[in-house]
Amino acid sequence: MNRNEQLFNRAKAIIPGGVNSPVRAFGSVGGVPRFIQKAQGAYVWDADGQRYIDYVGSWGPAIVGHAHPEVIEAVREAALGGLSFGAPTEAEIVIAEEIAKIVPSVAQLRLVSSGTEATMSAIRLARGFTGRDKIIKFEGCYHGHSDSLLVKAGSGLLTFGNPSSAGVPADFTKHTLVLSYNDVAQLEETFARIGDEIACVILEPFAGNMNLVRPSEAFVAALRALTEKHGAVLIYDEVMTGFRVALGGAQSLHGITPDLTTMGKVIGGGMPLAAFGGRADIMACISPLGGVYQAGTLSGNPVAVAAGLKTLEIIQRPGFYENLSARTEQLTQGLQAAADAAGVPFATDFIGGMYGLYFAATLPQSYADMTRTDTEAFKRFFHGMLERGVAFGPSAYEACFMSAAHTPELIDETAAIAHQAFAAMA
Ligand code: PMP
Repeated sequence: MNRNEQLFNRAKAIIPGGVNSPVRAFGSVGGVPRFIQKAQGAYVWDADGQRYIDYVGSWGPAIVGHAHPEVIEAVREAALGGLSFGAPTEAEIVIAEEIAKIVPSVAQLRLVSSGTEATMSAIRLARGFTGRDKIIKFEGCYHGHSDSLLVKAGSGLLTFGNPSSAGVPADFTKHTLVLSYNDVAQLEETFARIGDEIACVILEPFAGNMNLVRPSEAFVAALRALTEKHGAVLIYDEVMTGFRVALGGAQSLHGITPDLTTMGKVIGGGMPLAAFGGRADIMACISPLGGVYQAGTLSGNPVAVAAGLKTLEIIQRPGFYENLSARTEQLTQGLQAAADAAGVPFATDFIGGMYGLYFAATLPQSYADMTRTDTEAFKRFFHGMLERGVAFGPSAYEACFMSAAHTPELIDETAAIAHQAFAAMA
């Protein structure tokens, strides 16, 4: 038994499933998860000392590469000054000003500790602001694990959602309507019927939790126009896309100004930090100014803020996103060439530092399309790469991430490994 297996067995005895977040258990791909001992730049090392080129990037935060020396130094400095105060600090103002500068739709924001908290709070705020209960989300989009968002589509069109998790009362999800991503007609029909009862629409502006799916221009335009017309709050959930698809996030590429934005992952540079913010009139509804309650013992944690600030500084250096995009393009093209050479049906797409790998001949437009991709082929690709020293996320349904630490040489090496892995699949 190798050390990963030993640790997995030991973990399973004390932590349910052996993990603190389900996808880490390799449930959908099979096999033994790698227990990470350390990470540096583009690499991670497992408990057996095996090194991998890492394309998980902590599922998004590691955009400047793991353990970037400047980020580590900023964290060290901050930690020496104390780990948490439960009182305001100047650094919180600095990072808030910085975020608002990068994302102009954000006039004011609150710092929290996870993406789940950011989306949960933004939805409560939208409900408090509008005085309405109903919310709309889209099938295949993930917005964290708060009760009202753990829903799957009901049986017919325009029905309210059923809980997708045990432990969530149907009463808690009965106000959540689940619609199809990219379905403009369904959206129009819904707003025509009950638009004035909708508190908010929450959107993954490039969906990354059903692999990568782009919204059509018509879809985002309809979303903005309909929410505005009916006084519903448009929430861009940019926890994954923020500072990832472009410096200013998906909204900067769509040319859309949402009412609220949720952020996470990159803004903490690997530490627990997230945020929600937007229009000043909406943000003024939060306690202590307004009646919508929201709080956190560790909110705006000084060490997390230090990591986030340094990361935001690094990603604003000249050429950062041009380079990141070029690397992502190089990788997706290399993987495509490897699949083509082996005759494996495969497609890719990317935006900035985020990309999708699909075991299908064409690009999916919706969750329904995504469920028709070949997950067995993904499993074989995943393990073929892992055993050759390249780690992708253990799920066919999440987007993948590029970092600035992935050099062109490393990406060529990845493509060469992919030629072997695809050839073995054919
Ligand atoms: N929203 C989106 C779009 C996400 O991708 C995620 C996490 N993958 C979340 C919210 C929840 O963030 P967290 O895991 O930090 O709670």
